[in-house]
Amino acid sequence: MNDKVALKLEKVTKVFGKDRNAVVAVKDADLSVSGGEFVLIMGPSGSGKTTLLTMAGCLLRPTSGTIRVNGTDVSRLPDKELSRIRQSSIGFVFQSFNLLSALTAQENVEVALNMMGRDGEQCRKEAASLLDGLGLEARRHFRPEKLSGGEKQRVSIARALVKGPGIILADEPTANLDSRRGREIVEILKNAARDANKAVVVVSHDRHQCC
Ligand code: ADP
Ligand code: MG
Repeated sequence: MNDKVALKLEKVTKVFGKDRNAVVAVKDADLSVSGGEFVLIMGPSGSGKTTLLTMAGCLLRPTSGTIRVNGTDVSRLPDKELSRIRQSSIGFVFQSFNLLSALTAQENVEVALNMMGRDGEQCRKEAASLLDGLGLEARRHFRPEKLSGGEKQRVSIARALVKGPGIILADEPTANLDSRRGREIVEILKNAARDANKAVVVVSHDRHQCC
């Protein structure tokens, strides 16, 4: 296991709004995740899970505290640098899959590889191999509308796996799936940590689907 810390949050706080309308969504959160680790954060709806994950993914700036991605303090980086780090290192998996509906499963993954700088032929090969590895060899050329929820989530995991140094952040990835499919998705994310040395953080309000 790689013991280098991929993602480190120290005393991270996020306050939305001001004065009487202020909402403290996250308060003094600490988190440290290394490559090879799978971390599950549980909490009820409204407890700040999405806010925390969005800050960890460099999509939202904290009000205070420090966030390090692969050692770089991202809390005060300019937007352009932030989006470069996000694009190269962080894969997101969402409850609602967020696949491009006009593209096939294969093409959805190819787009992500292309953004990582791979050329056409390499994109095709890598996308096919990632999808095959997640049991989707017979579904590669289907568009999202022809895929089940579990299959769509596998495609979105394949897309998240293309990111280089490898942090995967999953926001309620099982919420739209039945419990068996949900557990399969959690197993895939655990394998991504163990076999691909990714730092994986999953947030969920539903213990039954994740444990
Ligand atoms: P969870 O994902 O655990 O359900 P959230 O992180 O979405 O929780 O929300 C935490 C709290 O922050 C909630 O009270 C929510 O209403 C508030 N909140 C989230 N995003 C915003 C925002 N953009 N503006 C104002 N309040 C927000
Ligand atoms: Mg949420």
